[in-house]
Amino acid sequence: MRSLLYPEWLIDGSGNPPLHNQVVVLEGDRITAVEPAATVAARPDDTVSHLPETTLLPGLINNHVHLVLPGDNTPFLPWADLQSDATLALWAEHNAQVSLRAGITTVRDCGGRKAVVINLRDAQRLGVAGGAQVITCGWPITITGGHTRFFGGEVDGIDGVTRMVRYAVSLGVDFIKVMGSGGGTPGSLAQFPAFKLEEMRAIVETAHGLGRKVCVHCIATDSIRIAVEAGVDLIEHAMFYGPDGLPHYDERVAEQLAQAGIPVTPTMQVNRDMIERTTGPEQEGWLRRREGHQQAVDGLRRLGVPLLAGSDAGWRATSFDSFWKELDELASAGMTPVQAVRAATAAVTAALGMADEFGAIKPGQRADLLIAHGDVSTDLSYLQQVHSVYQNGELVV
Ligand SMILES: [Zn+2]
Repeated sequence: MRSLLYPEWLIDGSGNPPLHNQVVVLEGDRITAVEPAATVAARPDDTVSHLPETTLLPGLINNHVHLVLPGDNTPFLPWADLQSDATLALWAEHNAQVSLRAGITTVRDCGGRKAVVINLRDAQRLGVAGGAQVITCGWPITITGGHTRFFGGEVDGIDGVTRMVRYAVSLGVDFIKVMGSGGGTPGSLAQFPAFKLEEMRAIVETAHGLGRKVCVHCIATDSIRIAVEAGVDLIEHAMFYGPDGLPHYDERVAEQLAQAGIPVTPTMQVNRDMIERTTGPEQEGWLRRREGHQQAVDGLRRLGVPLLAGSDAGWRATSFDSFWKELDELASAGMTPVQAVRAATAAVTAALGMADEFGAIKPGQRADLLIAHGDVSTDLSYLQQVHSVYQNGELVV
């Protein structure tokens, strides 16, 4: 049995302007045709949905989340230490459900405690847990005293990191996440690189040898340099902090990054959410961070670095149902709305090597779709007005 969907506007994920008067045909879990509406005749047993004043687009992919964290401005310490693994798993499933209701059909989890998020992904595959499809690194690999050490990934030295990558892969992680510099964890130093080049190379070599990509959290400029030199696959944040703890966009490092063709997920929404939550000097600090980061992201965009949309949901005050804001931040750093949609769909699956499977509205792709009220190509805030969501061809919202 087929479903025929007739939206007013169609954004296919390619970054091209929206199409009009199209029909999208679903059969089973696949998109089987995308044609001008007049060319497909409905059969008696087809389900026909006329969707005036709506935009149909690929289900969104949030390329950087932390499902085990609440994202409601609760300080993550001691919070994370006080929860059992079972409670964190339930939180993670809840956050995957919240994401799905907001039109996010896939999330890439960039780190939880130990195997909790791997267990959730496996439970989804067994059909006993729901929500957005989870792609997971398990936990982030971090130096002694490093960022998110409370998730259980502290390790040092070439032997140590090699062993940990092998162990993570044996538990079934989809990719490897490394903390290339410190971050918001007290005692970790965001303005300095964490792992040495030799350690980073060992991580990349071991992971690649086992068929896994490596993504690296980089706040410090020197951590970006090390990650590029080690040949990593993806960079998170790219905030270009100098040793003084302030953002200093470095065109030379950005050019190395562009030449290597490494995609960046800048996670800009965290700043925006904190600006909305704070006042006075604290707010001024977040405003400065945002300005520095937007300048860096605009610079990377001009150099042709592929930019991917990931909100860091779970972290600080970034919720799982407000991902449209990350797309809006990318737009304020110079992208058009349809390019921002591409950054949250086809550009992600291209970067992850999954473009044949999902992320676009075209025949053969998995039927993960978001239908939103309004013309999303004119205003990304229409993404909040969810009409319906399909996952694997099933109407789930
Ligand atoms: Zn993160």
